[in-house]
Amino acid sequence: MDGTATTAPLSPTVKAGWLDKNPPQGSYIYQKRWVKLDADYLRYFDSEKDAYSKRFIPVSSISRVASVGDQKFEVVTNNRNFVFRAESDADRNEWIRTLQQMAEERKSKALERMPMSPSADGATEPVDKCGFLELRGFKHKLFVAVAGDRVFLYKNAEDYRLGIGITYIEMNVGNVKEVDRRGFDLTTPYRIFSFSADSEQEKEEWVEAMRQSIAEALSNSEVAERIWGVESNRFCADCGSPHPEWASINLCVVICKRCAGEHRGLGPGVTKVRSLKMDRKVWTEELIQLFQQVGNAVANEFWAANVPPSEAIGPSSPSGDRRRFLVAKYREGKYRRYHPLFGNQEELDRALCAAVTTGDLAETLALLFCGAAVTCDTGDPRCPTPLALAQRSGQRLQMEFLLHNRTSGMGWPLLSPPPSMGLKPPELGCPQGVFEA
Ligand SMILES: [Zn+2]
Repeated sequence: MDGTATTAPLSPTVKAGWLDKNPPQGSYIYQKRWVKLDADYLRYFDSEKDAYSKRFIPVSSISRVASVGDQKFEVVTNNRNFVFRAESDADRNEWIRTLQQMAEERKSKALERMPMSPSADGATEPVDKCGFLELRGFKHKLFVAVAGDRVFLYKNAEDYRLGIGITYIEMNVGNVKEVDRRGFDLTTPYRIFSFSADSEQEKEEWVEAMRQSIAEALSNSEVAERIWGVESNRFCADCGSPHPEWASINLCVVICKRCAGEHRGLGPGVTKVRSLKMDRKVWTEELIQLFQQVGNAVANEFWAANVPPSEAIGPSSPSGDRRRFLVAKYREGKYRRYHPLFGNQEELDRALCAAVTTGDLAETLALLFCGAAVTCDTGDPRCPTPLALAQRSGQRLQMEFLLHNRTSGMGWPLLSPPPSMGLKPPELGCPQGVFEA
């Protein structure tokens, strides 16, 4: 899909440009292609304006990227190699560097990925229906797979197995209409795909599967649309990338896919990563409202109050810088705005018990991540925990926030106090770690 042609959420483009693709067998003429790389796919198009690619290669399938002679480079996958020619050696080297970086990142993420995390890879999503269909404009039948909120087109079943396809269609902009006994159209704002199935029954199954996919796409984007309704949530809280589709549900930040990968590395005791679009069950009405009220603006006023420009990251920062920044930001709490009560456990706990009975979520966040204990004793036998106090006061968003942070910090090292705290006499209380709850 073309980023300028739609409001649909997209994986941000990491690099794009014109390259010559090596000729197919039996030809000597290089083909000029618009090539685009994002966190999931390397894709090439006939032109910059096209919504649908001629080929997509999952970044996860790239095993090697190497220079092969003047201005050329080779993208090696398990079964197939793709050779591109850039306009200059410098451009070629830039492509190699970026591709290697993305492939490496993907590999290390694949190893770290915990079983509880949903797969973020469209191609590995469970397939709802797949098989052969005729598509007008193609000589041979294509292998088509309906998976989640996308429809993938492959040249044949072998390519499907390898994950290397022609294009995929985001179904949030799709519409399916039966045309005749075996034929049906999938219409998008950019193109009409006229399919033909082997039988009437097959056609009905395909139409049903694609309509399901559209319904899923629309309900998936509903949570994201509501959370993005707040301006500051439209950019990653950590690196500023547009269209962030992930979130840390305990830290209350909306983040991009690449930062989400690094968040996972911090462990669920520090940050609980969920998808705005795939983890539908976690997004209760309260959690959505919490993200509308807290979200990136309020959370960053706390977590990123003192970021030295030299340590900040941007949308194209490499994985290593991202990791360093996120460890400093959330695990060490290095850039925090310290709560005035920091270091005084009793006062912090008392302030937390008061804050949770009000609508002041920013105060609760600051107290909790400056050491107030989420399980502290309230001194009230009828409401022994801050959660019970919030419940009695009817503060549903406070409850939601406390619930997602009830296990934060288990087994993680204590955060270091700010430099001035080191001078405090010990009888004033030992500063507690942010996540000691
Ligand atoms: Zn980011």
